[in-house]
Amino acid sequence: MSAPRTTAPGSQLIETPERTALRRAVADLGGRYGSAYYLAKARAGEPADELWAEAGKAGYLGVNLPAEYGGGGGGITDLAIVLEELGTAGCPLLLLIVSPAICGTVIARYGTEEQKRHWLPGLADGSRRMAFGITEPDAGSNSHRISTVARRDGEDWLLAGRKVFVSGIDHCDAVLFVARTEDARTGKLKPALFVVPRDTPGFEYRPIPMELVAPERQFQVFLDDVRLPAEALVGDENAGLLQLFAGLNPERIMTAAFSLGLARQALGKAVEYARTRVVWSTPIGAHQGLAHPLAQCAVEIELARLMTQKAALLYDGGEDAAAGEAANMAKYAAGEAAARTVDQAVQTLGGNGLTQEYGLGALLAATRVGRVAPVSREMVLNYVAQHTLGLPKSY
Ligand SMILES: Cc1cc2nc3c(=O)[nH]c(=O)nc-3n(C[C@H](O)[C@H](O)[C@H](O)COP(=O)(O)OP(=O)(O)OC[C@H]3O[C@@H](n4cnc5c(N)ncnc54)[C@H](O)[C@@H]3O)c2cc1C
Repeated sequence: MSAPRTTAPGSQLIETPERTALRRAVADLGGRYGSAYYLAKARAGEPADELWAEAGKAGYLGVNLPAEYGGGGGGITDLAIVLEELGTAGCPLLLLIVSPAICGTVIARYGTEEQKRHWLPGLADGSRRMAFGITEPDAGSNSHRISTVARRDGEDWLLAGRKVFVSGIDHCDAVLFVARTEDARTGKLKPALFVVPRDTPGFEYRPIPMELVAPERQFQVFLDDVRLPAEALVGDENAGLLQLFAGLNPERIMTAAFSLGLARQALGKAVEYARTRVVWSTPIGAHQGLAHPLAQCAVEIELARLMTQKAALLYDGGEDAAAGEAANMAKYAAGEAAARTVDQAVQTLGGNGLTQEYGLGALLAATRVGRVAPVSREMVLNYVAQHTLGLPKSY
């Protein structure tokens, strides 16, 4: 019997031969590490450095970044393939969403020549990493309420405020923080973006104890009048939301890819188990009570994957408005597919669904990430209700 296939066959109408080759090469790399490596690193509280370094050397981490700064010259479509395949192989590297996708994209699109030369080659080959901080304790989903303020002091900036849930700071060289300038303290958010090196005086961070089994921890951050040179500002302080969304749409597309990887990993393990586990006279996968829900998961994963590909292609094609709607829908669909698939996979394995040996129990918490971050499923539904359907805003 051939190995279970948990996705539809590739088609050149949907994906170019180069991207299919990228998918295979990354799947090979991920397969050499697998979920045993990833979970052991996570449980030891260590970064997945070996995999990160190898992926960087092969050009996968910077596949979306401009070639003149050491990247692969591709787009978010390519980087989403990298994350989806690593996740499918058992290694869903959360920092891929942040370092090359958000920070790399924003610097490539809006950074100065000096910022691009300083950061992009390292972000591309993985030798440098950058975290991203927008969430605040008193603002949560309502980013318009963020109160981290940047005020000028001569040529410098002083940054003051608090952030929460910033992922991976301890593995990163710097954080790209979203603040508001002093003259825009209230009302609609006019974001200003700053690169803050991790060792800058006044910048403190403490881990938040989380139930998530992942090498990247989440941190709360205290910014106590952090003094930054003028060059720390990325882009124009008056550019409004445009340059922030240059990073947030890739973040949503990458979170969809993260969820797809978790879903495919879980479905693969569940199908393999269902084909071989016999407790009556046939493999448990012969019982429709198990086979149909798994088949439903396969359909939902494939639909979410198509939506993710559409969102990524729109974004890479420069259609930012259409990409925004598609990225929200893709993130929602993939988050739901992953939550349902992991739940069904755990059920399929019975008691083994919760053993460390099979590595599925840890995915239960991981799938919640795709439902909550970077924008919750409820906020996506608010967006679709208001912008796609034209219904009144409810909040
Ligand atoms: C593992 C993990 C990693 C993260 N990494 C990062 C990171 O690297 N950088 C970063 O900046 N942030 C990060 N986040 C934060 C994440 O983006 C936020 O958790 C998310 O935006 C939701 O904000 P909140 O947790 O404050 O929830 P809240 O905004 O308090 O929402 C709580 C609940 O209320 C619902 N809700 C709120 N408003 C409405 C409404 N109007 N209508 C209906 N329902 C509503 C929400 O959907 C949610 O279910 C991470 C979070 C997690 C869990």
